[in-house]
Amino acid sequence: MSQDQRGSGEQGTREFGFDTRAIHAGQRPDPYTGARATPIFQTTSYVFEDPESAAAYFNLQEYGNTYTRIMNPTTAVFEERVASLEGAAGGVAFASGLAAQAAALFTMLTPGDHVVASSALYGGTVTQLKHLARKLSLDVTFVDPDDLSSWRAALRPNTKVLYGETIGNPGGNVLDIEGVAEIAHGHGAPLMVDSTFATPYLCRPIEHGADIVVHSATKFIGGHGTSIGGVVVEAGTFNWSNGRFPVVADPSPAYHGLAFHETFGMYGYLMKLRAESLRDLGGALSPFNSFLFLLGLETLPLRMARHVENAVGVARFLEGHAAVAAVRYPGLDSSPYRDLVKRYLPHGAGSIFVFDLKGGRDAGQRFISGLELWSHLANVGDAKSLVIHPASTTHRQLNDAELAAAGVGPGTIRLSVGLETLDDLTADLARGLAAATP
Ligand SMILES: *Cc1c(COP(=O)(O)O)cnc(C)c1O
Repeated sequence: MSQDQRGSGEQGTREFGFDTRAIHAGQRPDPYTGARATPIFQTTSYVFEDPESAAAYFNLQEYGNTYTRIMNPTTAVFEERVASLEGAAGGVAFASGLAAQAAALFTMLTPGDHVVASSALYGGTVTQLKHLARKLSLDVTFVDPDDLSSWRAALRPNTKVLYGETIGNPGGNVLDIEGVAEIAHGHGAPLMVDSTFATPYLCRPIEHGADIVVHSATKFIGGHGTSIGGVVVEAGTFNWSNGRFPVVADPSPAYHGLAFHETFGMYGYLMKLRAESLRDLGGALSPFNSFLFLLGLETLPLRMARHVENAVGVARFLEGHAAVAAVRYPGLDSSPYRDLVKRYLPHGAGSIFVFDLKGGRDAGQRFISGLELWSHLANVGDAKSLVIHPASTTHRQLNDAELAAAGVGPGTIRLSVGLETLDDLTADLARGLAAATP
């Protein structure tokens, strides 16, 4: 059963360390072949032992493989491993980060519900909440993530979830997870956190009170820019039967009257997430991508430590450069998020951040053209160093006032610092900065 952490997460009563779990959690050598690596179960479906067990699987009375849209043994290892690393009860994987977020939200929400979300979020998430959620008759209020009173002030009787990112876009806002969790719980609502930029190596939001954590595995978890995927994990401690979530607690008409929370207890929300959202929306992760994400997780601790080391080096280099107006890396001593970093990100603030050139749009484009080693593209969290100039790409349609409202200046550059030799990264940035300076 993929939700059960015990088999591979503990040795007697002593729990394995993070690095051990990144390599072993959720998997043992294959009992049939002895294969040490996780096999890729590239199969759509599974032969039932007999008609009775098939019926029990479809009734969710017994847990067994039916169809890869709902579950797959390779993907189950990935789900269990992320859950173990996050300290969660279990997890469900999806075809992308956005599919994971959508499924996690729509499993708990019904038309007329209200969401309070940070205004400093990944662009695709803002669009999902602003347009798709509203089309589904959900109401969303965006708040200043740094101001706890603005979270509190936005609450309404129908507020069902609070949503933020551990490290937000583009300003590197570090979320006060404990503060926002307390506000959410005081209102009988869960806190959901997108922890993509932090990964479980740098921060485990559940330890600070978050209830649901989502990741775009596309980024650091995969780590090599090869695969799109996402995953949702849940602490398993939120009381879905508090009277505010009949959609999770009451008998489900879409599942022959099954009451998920009562039947499955701490796994109720996760079971519903799997059984209903994968069945009905169908955003299943491919077993091959699960295999690549498992490879990524094995080296996550090593890679993240090096990503952070390089990011600090790059941020310090930029901070001292005459062509740079500001460096917004939360890991710098000069950052306004310094204290929150100490509390929530003691091993570092990741390697994705923005800085502002002294020049405007033209300087930004000249900077990009001057680079050779950094790849100009719209992704983050790769072993390769990546760069983008939002004003001429992702935020191209916005005028300067709209850019400012989004926290992006005409000369803002976003970096995702990779694993190359630090001196090579800074030498290339120096070339770009020279090109940007008239
Ligand atoms: C990329 C990203 C997403 C979306 O993930 P996809 O895998 O591209 O669907 C969501 N949140 C954050 C913070 C991201 O960086």
